[in-house]
Amino acid sequence: MESGPKELHIFFFPHLAHGHMIPTIDMARLFARQHSVKTTIICTPLNAPLVSKVIERDSQHGIEISVRIVKFPSIEAGLPEGCENLGSTTSPEMFNNFYKALGLLQQPLEQLLEECRPNCLVADVMFPWATEVASKFGIPRLIFHGTSYFAFCVFHSLRCYELLNTLSEFESFIVPGIPDQIKMTKSQQPSYFRGVDNELTKLTNLSVQSEQTSYGVLVNSFNELEPAYSEHYRKFIVKKAWSIGPVSLCNKDIEDKALRGNIASIAAYECLRWLEMKNPNSVLYICFGSKFVFPASQLLEIAKGLEAAGKHFIWVMKEEENINNQEKQEWLLEGFEKRVEGKGLIIKGWAPQALILDHNAIGGFMTHCGWNSVLESVTNGVPMITWPLYAEQFYNEKLVTDVLKIGVSIGAQECSRSIDARKFILKKEDIERYVNRLMVGEEAEEMRSKAKALKEMARKAVEEGGSSNSDLNALIQELRSL
Ligand code: UDP
Repeated sequence: MESGPKELHIFFFPHLAHGHMIPTIDMARLFARQHSVKTTIICTPLNAPLVSKVIERDSQHGIEISVRIVKFPSIEAGLPEGCENLGSTTSPEMFNNFYKALGLLQQPLEQLLEECRPNCLVADVMFPWATEVASKFGIPRLIFHGTSYFAFCVFHSLRCYELLNTLSEFESFIVPGIPDQIKMTKSQQPSYFRGVDNELTKLTNLSVQSEQTSYGVLVNSFNELEPAYSEHYRKFIVKKAWSIGPVSLCNKDIEDKALRGNIASIAAYECLRWLEMKNPNSVLYICFGSKFVFPASQLLEIAKGLEAAGKHFIWVMKEEENINNQEKQEWLLEGFEKRVEGKGLIIKGWAPQALILDHNAIGGFMTHCGWNSVLESVTNGVPMITWPLYAEQFYNEKLVTDVLKIGVSIGAQECSRSIDARKFILKKEDIERYVNRLMVGEEAEEMRSKAKALKEMARKAVEEGGSSNSDLNALIQELRSL
């Protein structure tokens, strides 16, 4: 009797931060929809509901996708109980302890592998030890990085050439050995390159080693977006890499998009009703990722700049930005909100970003350049004002402004997560100028039409026969043959 294709069971183990969990859930759903692939997402108790609410509908449709829970060692790592997501850390010490806690997940993961015996482990780059764990069970480990090929290439170049030690903070240099001439400064580099000795730096060093020993790397990008860099990466850094993005495109209907990530602070229909009343390309969307909180002085300048520019906008503020500071509360929430009524929608908390960016009223995105946000902007043909803040976001900015030419840089210079360490405040005049530059005029139209062309390419890449779809199929076939 002829047997069907070998059944595959793949474990997905995401870093516990929204920017990593969201694309990992998308990825698991993509795999699960391919014939005979069963997927399990590993999560902790407090993060699990965010996964379950998304995958519930898939399971109802007979797709083999589920969640398994491991206990998060908050107390053991010196964290308060209930701190299970990077977004809940509020100090450098908590941040550091959070990465310690991630290291303690090795044993619970091994227990689950022992019990379920999957055929493959896709684990976040933040779990460098996962390669060894997978090999104990005789299965391949794939790494998920969660950023662009471009960012990897810059990172590897700066590690190899070691030129940063000789530079002063704001001296510009050209990133050596990559396909384009990219100018940066040392001040724009992540803490890893700035001599910060913490758990994250240790993990980053270990992850570079595990990149070489693991089976390969999954990249949430598509080859047509950054062809020179996907080639460079495969030639000089890691040979086995599969581009399977944009993974966000697996969210097809309104409910899928509205449910993505955290619990939204606004109903999908309310958001859509507001957008429906606006002209195409007339609204600027402003969001700085899942967790970053600006100081009150910067919020005030943004508010003044938006008001002066006079364009329609949706501005997402994280909760902490609304409750901590008296001055900001009075100015922003009473005076400002009333004055911009009808023109501006302020979402306090979590916005259904995938739903918003997909609407044709959105004409621009002011973003911190987290890779998911950049890719979601590209996927929806929306040009950007780039305002990178920390980690590899300054690299993603360069891809948007210097390589793809679908965005304008607001001119940020400081790479830091800490509000207190920030020395520069961008003024109202800057905000106003950049908003106008992105939303109206010839330059804006040019960027918009380039972004729309990339949108088409992104959608083709994930369709049957497209580059990302073919990479995904080839990978599944390869895993089946092992
Ligand atoms: N996001 C969202 N609503 C928000 C904030 C963020 O849906 O209010 C989503 C966004 O669509 C993206 C992810 O959260 O998928 C953030 O990832 P990104 O890499 O852009 O930034 P990070 O939060 O990791 O810095």
